[in-house]
Amino acid sequence: MSDVLVLGGGMVGVSTALALQSAGRDVVLVDRREVGQETSYGNAGVIQSEAVEPYPLPLSLTTLFNIAFKRSNDVNYHLTALPAYLRPLWLYFRSSLPARHREISQTYAGLVRRATADHAPLIAAAGADNLIRRSGLRFVYKTQQALESSAKEAERISREYGVEVTFETASELATAEPHLKPVLAGAVHWPETWSCADPGDLTRAYAALFISRGGSIVTVDAATLCEQDAGWSVTGREGAVTAREAVVALGPWSPVLLKRFGYDIPLLRKRGYHRHFIGGGTLNAPMLLGESATVLSPMQRGLRVLTGAELATIDAPPSPVQLQRSTAAAAELVELGEPVETEPWFGNRPCMPDMLPLAGRAPRHKGLWFHFGHGHQGFTLGPTTAALLAEEMATGSAPVPELSPSRLRYL
Ligand SMILES: Cc1cc2nc3c(=O)[nH]c(=O)nc-3n(C[C@H](O)[C@H](O)[C@H](O)COP(=O)(O)OP(=O)(O)OC[C@H]3O[C@@H](n4cnc5c(N)ncnc54)[C@H](O)[C@@H]3O)c2cc1C
Repeated sequence: MSDVLVLGGGMVGVSTALALQSAGRDVVLVDRREVGQETSYGNAGVIQSEAVEPYPLPLSLTTLFNIAFKRSNDVNYHLTALPAYLRPLWLYFRSSLPARHREISQTYAGLVRRATADHAPLIAAAGADNLIRRSGLRFVYKTQQALESSAKEAERISREYGVEVTFETASELATAEPHLKPVLAGAVHWPETWSCADPGDLTRAYAALFISRGGSIVTVDAATLCEQDAGWSVTGREGAVTAREAVVALGPWSPVLLKRFGYDIPLLRKRGYHRHFIGGGTLNAPMLLGESATVLSPMQRGLRVLTGAELATIDAPPSPVQLQRSTAAAAELVELGEPVETEPWFGNRPCMPDMLPLAGRAPRHKGLWFHFGHGHQGFTLGPTTAALLAEEMATGSAPVPELSPSRLRYL
């Protein structure tokens, strides 16, 4: 029998497996497919030092009106999905009120500010430095007014959390990113942020490191998880795999499994889309197009165009509206070339309605641990919350109690 089953081979699960292995545990990583193929593949690949405050729900009536009438590209929704979203949205709204959001941000900033330092030794040991850019992240704007408002907010973030920020005029931006068309007023540049040219590859490089250090990966459906006298088991074609403890790190699918164990997790899934383009221009660093809720991220496969959030049930068919708008916005800035995929990719940001990931002991099951709900920054935070979880599993006390699943009773 092994010490720990880690269920889920995304950035969060793979980082958990590595952190527990470093703490001397014998770990088996479980996924139903090859690791790093889901959300940890499809994201923007940004290791976000600047994301110290999680995204609140917009509280301004104008913004909410624009979302309701689908005039904004930030958020789209499927009407049929809304009933299931009412509870998590209400809880998310409460967490977005200024005093509570400030409190949450203190905890969140503590995690985000150490994220690049937590990735660094893994990147080095996995020999994955070729995938990493340390050229920052830009927020770019077409109008001077939007640029100035973003710069003011960036100055506040910089002052309150000690994040480095610089500002670029249109001509400085054109020098930094020569493929851009001359339509932008300038940029807010976050130089401490890193990015990755293939987030799925980085996740797989971390998984290869785990294997090289003696870990094992099995292809099994985590839905077979069973509690046994001495621990936990999953069962596949090769038979049962057992361990004394199990960590649920199934990202957006975690609540599906946990429902069977009596846990009702109000996860807010924010769907996002991407498509790559090749043969056109490229960028030296990812950028957020502030006015169209679009991210452009240079990847090995081409320039990845990504969208904001969509509220849809997990298996609902794709709706192309946001990606069409994002692609049009991107094409105004840079020659895109040809699309790589015939159909866009889509996946779900697994957001807890109080904006903090869950990392800690399951409230009602011995030997079961939760590690999911990293929302917009799971690629950034995987190694950080994995280190915190491994510390709690070793010592019995939680280094950041705010991440404890015991808070689920208040949600
Ligand atoms: C469009 C978009 C852009 C994003 N950009 C960024 C970004 O720039 N930076 C950032 O930090 N974050 C970003 N994110 C968020 C980030 O991608 C996620 O928070 C993170 O990938 C979650 O990782 P995870 O390991 O929890 O989940 P996943 O990567 O989804 O991993 C879950 C794993 O569980 C497995 N699984 C599911 N069900 C079962 C089962 N029954 N049995 C066995 N295995 C199962 C899946 O196969 C998968 O491998 C973005 C997300 C989206 C959608």
